[in-house]
Amino acid sequence: MSARVPLAVPHLAGNERRYLEACLDDNFVSSVGPFVDRFECEFASAVGVPHAVACASGTAALHVALQLAGVGPGSVVAVSTFTFIASANAVTYTGAHPWLIDSERESWNLDGERLHAEVERRALAGERLPDAIEAVHVLGHPARLEPLLDLRERFGIPLVEDAAEALGASYRGGALAGQQAGAIGAFGCFSFNGNKVITTGGGGMLVTADAQLAARAKHLTTQAKLPQRGYLHDEVGFNYRLTNLAAALGVAQLEQLPAFLAAKRALARRYEAALADLPVDPPPHAAWAEPSHWLYSLLLRPGAPPRDAVLDALGAAGIEARPLWPPLHRQAPYMSAETLGGEVADDIYARGISLPSSVGLSAEEQERVIVAVRGVLNGTP
Ligand SMILES: *Cc1c(COP(=O)(O)O)cnc(C)c1O
Repeated sequence: MSARVPLAVPHLAGNERRYLEACLDDNFVSSVGPFVDRFECEFASAVGVPHAVACASGTAALHVALQLAGVGPGSVVAVSTFTFIASANAVTYTGAHPWLIDSERESWNLDGERLHAEVERRALAGERLPDAIEAVHVLGHPARLEPLLDLRERFGIPLVEDAAEALGASYRGGALAGQQAGAIGAFGCFSFNGNKVITTGGGGMLVTADAQLAARAKHLTTQAKLPQRGYLHDEVGFNYRLTNLAAALGVAQLEQLPAFLAAKRALARRYEAALADLPVDPPPHAAWAEPSHWLYSLLLRPGAPPRDAVLDALGAAGIEARPLWPPLHRQAPYMSAETLGGEVADDIYARGISLPSSVGLSAEEQERVIVAVRGVLNGTP
């Protein structure tokens, strides 16, 4: 039996070892060291934003970003109900409440038109408006931000982007053409967890165009310690720094980002072509969007076996496939959260599976996945 094909594992094919050794040689293994500055600098320029602040995780980056966007106890933050739970947990850490917004079919992301209409209705009725919007670029497909930017314009509602899965994703049409996911809101937040587009083992990054907010973010991630001698702190900060060791990995990974994105896009194209005749819907790919194709995910159509039967059969064939996230309005901590719709997210969850999408997935491994999926879905081999 050949080895198991994992869902998404790191690909450490560049200067990782060399840069880690440099850390050991220089004794810079903790949160001081040249790789942290270098990673921030190179990341900011890769995303096309003036400032980047390294954080201990993507969740930490979101927490700090939301707080700096003015979110606090009692605030309400509109966020996609179809996302990894960290998107909403960061809202909860600030003392705010998430307002869970259903997905649109076109991108599986937060339905911006529907949110826009509801905010307009509330404004007319004199009802409470959300204090911020956190748009998640789910599975690396850019979210349609135009309606959200209009809400910022008209009602001053700030936009924070959860781009944890979307490093390298961009807009190729519309008003945002040429810009990258994460570079548009007041803050963009990225994750370098082990299964993300690039990894530092664990880590995150906050980006912003505002120098003052970037300085405030750095301050908050370092326990709000003042620069003068001694232990003086002017507010409650966090221990959210990234270590120099992790940043060394980050610099090495970032050097390979163009190759990683090319590999992910090639995987997606091959899956799409090889599964086109089966009863499945391919992942969203709007004409105006260039997704990162972080995790190739499709929907089973009527005529396909039930999701769990498909996952079991793939598992038995040595292939790690996964269901998508249960929407947040189905998760214990958020079942009673206010929700706008939810049926689309429920449907995506019920029918969705993710297929192996590692950057290092070989052509042979991908062929094994394709043969197994075709077998389960009764396609001809
Ligand atoms: C991974 C992820 C996060 C959290 O990032 P961590 O680095 O794991 O804390 C947040 N939001 C989304 C959408 C994610 O996929």
